[in-house]
Amino acid sequence: MIFRIENLNFRYNLKGQNVVALRSLSHKVSRGDFQILTGPSGSGKTTLLNLLGLIEPLQDGQIFFDDIDYKSLSEREKNKIRGSKIGFVFQSFQLMPVLTAEENVEYFIHRAGLKAVDRRQRIKEALSSVGLWEHRQKRPGQMSGGQQQRVAIARALVKRPELILADEPTASLDQKTGRGIMELFRTLNSQSGVTMVASSHDPMVHSYGKQVVSLLDGALVDVKTVAL
Ligand code: ADP
Ligand code: MG
Repeated sequence: MIFRIENLNFRYNLKGQNVVALRSLSHKVSRGDFQILTGPSGSGKTTLLNLLGLIEPLQDGQIFFDDIDYKSLSEREKNKIRGSKIGFVFQSFQLMPVLTAEENVEYFIHRAGLKAVDRRQRIKEALSSVGLWEHRQKRPGQMSGGQQQRVAIARALVKRPELILADEPTASLDQKTGRGIMELFRTLNSQSGVTMVASSHDPMVHSYGKQVVSLLDGALVDVKTVAL
């Protein structure tokens, strides 16, 4: 079991008003899963991914990661999990425009305490696995949207994460490029055993999941296991 989520509630405060984002949500993610979170805009997908990725602090309820209770973690322990076990991929790529593809990837492990030669090896491995080693000297502005998203995936992979959380990873891409990204996730999941949780409301993306998890108004309303 990678995640056990128990009775999660979450609300934002917007100008003094409470906005309920998640309600009594319980769920599980097992090692090797490929889960797609779906649901209309505002249904809580991003909030759930941010809580799982330790980007947003827990309010009410529990998340266990490999049986470790998130509530019991110090900031230092949280950083360690974020830095070594969980890769995050966003809709907007979030690359640094002045850095090359290689530097964007390197930036994410420059403090990991690796020897220069090991660091280099990992960067090469990550950029090669997304098919971009030849383009390593390019800056984001010199690459297509699909290539930029691949750099963002390489940046997540360089940590050798057990798990990738991807928030609408294909939403800024055309269908064909989006498919290419989903194929890459599928390969990482089936060949390298990386557990995947991605959000999307695109049926094309759903077809890549082993489970499709539906949210509505912050509640989990359905889990479908896809016959492969
Ligand atoms: P989704 O990713 O499915 O679109 P979100 O998790 O972003 O859903 O949003 C869930 C709910 O929380 C929505 O009602 C949204 O308007 C609200 N929300 C999200 N982020 C914030 C924020 N920073 N401040 C206030 N409300 C927010
Ligand atoms: Mg969202």
